[in-house]
Amino acid sequence: MKTKAKQSVLVLKTGREKSLKRRHPWVFSGAVEKVIGEPQSGDTVLVRTAEGTPLGVAAYSPDSQIRGRMWAFDETTKVDAAFFTARLKSALVLRTRLGIGRHTNAMRLVHGESDGLPGLIVDRYADVLVAQFLSAGTERWREAILDALVELTGCEAVFERSDAEVRTLEGLPERAGFVRGNVNATRCAVLEHGLAFRVDVAAGQKTGFFLDQRANRLRIKALSAGRDVLDCFCYTGGFAISSLAGGAREVTALDSSGPAIAIARENLAANSLDASTIEFKEADVFLHLRELRNRGEKFDLIVLDPPKFAPTAAQVEKASRAYKDINLLALKLLAPGGLLATFSCSGAISPDLFQKIIAGAALDAEADARIVERFGPDADHPVGLDFPEGDYLKGLLVYRA
Ligand code: SAH
Repeated sequence: MKTKAKQSVLVLKTGREKSLKRRHPWVFSGAVEKVIGEPQSGDTVLVRTAEGTPLGVAAYSPDSQIRGRMWAFDETTKVDAAFFTARLKSALVLRTRLGIGRHTNAMRLVHGESDGLPGLIVDRYADVLVAQFLSAGTERWREAILDALVELTGCEAVFERSDAEVRTLEGLPERAGFVRGNVNATRCAVLEHGLAFRVDVAAGQKTGFFLDQRANRLRIKALSAGRDVLDCFCYTGGFAISSLAGGAREVTALDSSGPAIAIARENLAANSLDASTIEFKEADVFLHLRELRNRGEKFDLIVLDPPKFAPTAAQVEKASRAYKDINLLALKLLAPGGLLATFSCSGAISPDLFQKIIAGAALDAEADARIVERFGPDADHPVGLDFPEGDYLKGLLVYRA
């Protein structure tokens, strides 16, 4: 039996408490003067200023640049199973208050730091939960979190997708599979604003579906009537099928992933829509946009929803060039009076920079273009006011005169 050890302490360097005082939840390794005690990965530690003022309690990540993730800014907070039940409850209350369940049975229940649970992502697809434990602290409390999730949601099955790359930065192994219940099938049927989608929780990208784009898919549906639509990076067909349901004249949808296109076709079949006016194509968007341009094709509505080109700040320059390239091509493919819905989910690309990139693309495309709307993530993806990093998804609706 281990005797109850005294709580370990992270002592900050002089003056390095500023961000924590603003309640930013991360303690970077460079801000730590010393560690008192021998905390293990995921243990709860007390965080103190150089002068000895307590700042709160954090989860200790010895292998990560983010050495501590704050659980609470009150040093008397006890981090135990009841703590996680309370935080999860409050995340669920937010979703209930927003009424998201009136439009869909697929939603993000826990959005990490912005729900007070650094490193934890939980998505619900009908009766199946998909959980990602992306930090040492959430890994340490995994069982308690899983028990609380099952109890609070009534979902019997939980599929773990702790196979994201960020786990390696935390020194954690990748893990995936059912951890509670087993629905014997990893394909979940969900409904979003009246449209049916199949979500592959085991093999799909991220947790299987891009829930953050829900409201934007609905907006695109409303803008599609009578238009020729091009959906680039279509994944399982979210925007493309919404466009078709919104009365698009013709829809072309592109993605480089064969498995994603296969599910997109299943999704099309799952809805009562005229399939003769939509085409899903396995293609590289960078190459295919050039082909379309060379053929002189035109579209009235183009959606560009690429993957994260800049996973970290180091890739911003290269990513900026890639964003400019596809946006320039898309603007050239737009018919007069056409709309471009363009997105970036790179946290490292600020909304400001994104707008500059699109402005540069319009200039080079010699397009008379203006912003008519701005997009963000749907409401089940809150952004902590003290956590700007959570504000990763941005989009512009651009009109070409
Ligand atoms: N719009 C989608 C989500 C897009 S995710 C939705 O609402 O569900 C980004 C997609 O880009 C992924 O499906 C990925 O397979 C695809 N992708 C990545 N690089 C690509 C490329 N060079 N060409 C085409 N598709 C690509």
